[in-house]
Amino acid sequence: MKKIFEVPLYPYKRHADEDASSPVRRKVVVIGAGPVGLAAAIDLAQQGTEVVVLDDNDKVSFGSRAICFAKRPLEILDRLGCGQPMVDKGVQWNTGKVFFDDRQVYEFNLLPEEGHKRPAFINLQQYYFEEYLVNRVRELQEQGAPIEIRGRNKVSAIGSHPTHAVLEIDTPEGSYTLEAEWLIACDGAGSPTRQMLGLDFVGRVFEDNFLIADVIMEADFPSERWFWFDPPFNKGQSALLHKQPDGVWRIDLQLGWDIDKEREKRPDNVIPRLKAMLGEDVKFELEWVSIYTFQCRRMEKFRHGRVIFAGDAAHQVSPFGARGANSGLQDTDNLCWKLKLVMDGKAPEGLLDTYDAERIHGADENILNSSRSTDFITPKSEISRVLRDAVLDLSEQYEFARPLVNSGRLSVPCTYDGSPLNSADALDGPDRTRPGSPCPDAPLGDGFLLDKLGDKFVLLTIDADAPDVIVEEGIEVTRLALSIKDDKTLALQQRYLGKHESGVYLIRPDQHVAARRPAFDENQFRHAIRRAIGKE
Ligand SMILES: Cc1cc2nc3c(=O)[nH]c(=O)nc-3n(C[C@H](O)[C@H](O)[C@H](O)COP(=O)(O)OP(=O)(O)OC[C@H]3O[C@@H](n4cnc5c(N)ncnc54)[C@H](O)[C@@H]3O)c2cc1C
Repeated sequence: MKKIFEVPLYPYKRHADEDASSPVRRKVVVIGAGPVGLAAAIDLAQQGTEVVVLDDNDKVSFGSRAICFAKRPLEILDRLGCGQPMVDKGVQWNTGKVFFDDRQVYEFNLLPEEGHKRPAFINLQQYYFEEYLVNRVRELQEQGAPIEIRGRNKVSAIGSHPTHAVLEIDTPEGSYTLEAEWLIACDGAGSPTRQMLGLDFVGRVFEDNFLIADVIMEADFPSERWFWFDPPFNKGQSALLHKQPDGVWRIDLQLGWDIDKEREKRPDNVIPRLKAMLGEDVKFELEWVSIYTFQCRRMEKFRHGRVIFAGDAAHQVSPFGARGANSGLQDTDNLCWKLKLVMDGKAPEGLLDTYDAERIHGADENILNSSRSTDFITPKSEISRVLRDAVLDLSEQYEFARPLVNSGRLSVPCTYDGSPLNSADALDGPDRTRPGSPCPDAPLGDGFLLDKLGDKFVLLTIDADAPDVIVEEGIEVTRLALSIKDDKTLALQQRYLGKHESGVYLIRPDQHVAARRPAFDENQFRHAIRRAIGKE
């Protein structure tokens, strides 16, 4: 049977735009039907914005690539209507184990806290993730949403103008020109858009190679993340093992810098390496083998007039910590509501510059974490290695040393501290819900909090009075009234009130906190709304 990544999911079909006598201007064009481009398009289409996705391919990602999807992206995918198939298919895991040489030094639990709809992480092949996004596009199309994917439409030239962008597109039947009021470039780490516009992409190259093998095997390893430093089967290097659905296991072996990549990728070299790790008797089949090197870098700015970059096109990190696709989804989550308000004339164009500010803050946090993990995993000098090994030795017995071990700090969402959209914190409540934070989930009697937030501004009141609706600058803010009386698990109290008896939160369409106070104050909340849409 063919694998999902071998089947064209959005085959080329000639479009009327190709035969138009003058270039057609579309509202939003997204370049790239990778996870980030598809998420952006779904987000916009759900809000009724016309969007066209162009991709030079017609299939989902070849081979697995990303496998770990964190809680926050799953919450975003819930908002986009495709979180459930991810969780249904994905392998859930919370436990990570760290090994040094031939012994386990410690284990950790990613989500000791109860009361979240989504798990800390799931493992799922990137091709399934993209398939579910394409399915969601199809579903939206059936509901009449203005969204389309044009397969085998390769963007070959771009002109950027103050009011629009112009794209030259190559198809199997020739070329055509298309205009876009707004262009979102999600065309991956090698971003042709970035290159065509002559934009920078600077950062650090890590001199190392990693062999990735996805193998199909029957094995009784548990659903945990296992990371080895200097294991007997890969001396002086590292290794990682993760379980994926369909009996597929991800094995990641560090190889060092000076290698012959083509030789290392050959099955007659890969298989003995895997046997040394798994044991001679374990039966497996190779699904996908690849060798990757990585870089940590980003564009100086993500917004260039009418062209906005997201995902790997805007920033790139090492896979340690699973921050690539995860952070790309946080980009589109941040961007799409802002773009919609700007397009509807409800917010000034400057609101889009806060996408730059907030997501560059996120990218820098990811690059910092990813670089630190990489430096720990692959020490750059003998003295660093000695220190690292001492930390690993200590971590076996002493808890204080464990936070110093860095086998990839796993992706957590960024808090937009210092964002110009935040109002000053007037509640002095729990730190994790300060302005700029992504709302933590909490169980409610009839479901979960995050299912009731998102896509629009919400005024969350907990044991506080407020009007059911406030309209400010054309923005309708609806109230979600909750009470601690119904908070059986105390999650709402602990996550949103702390020592207070009541609280009122202004929550953005991307489920981030914009403002909070102990009680409703109309004047203050009207200011907060104006501020959150870039009008103050
Ligand atoms: C080995 C490995 C492991 C990883 N593990 C993880 C992980 O566990 N978790 C995680 O979150 N991330 C992980 N990542 C990163 C993740 O794969 C990327 O961050 C993610 O694919 C980025 O998505 P994107 O949509 O920005 O870009 P891409 O997935 O690269 O998609 C870009 C799209 O643009 C299209 N395109 C390019 N040029 C043109 C053009 N000229 N015209 C039209 N279309 C074009 C391409 O065909 C492609 O479909 C991993 C990456 C690797 C390599």
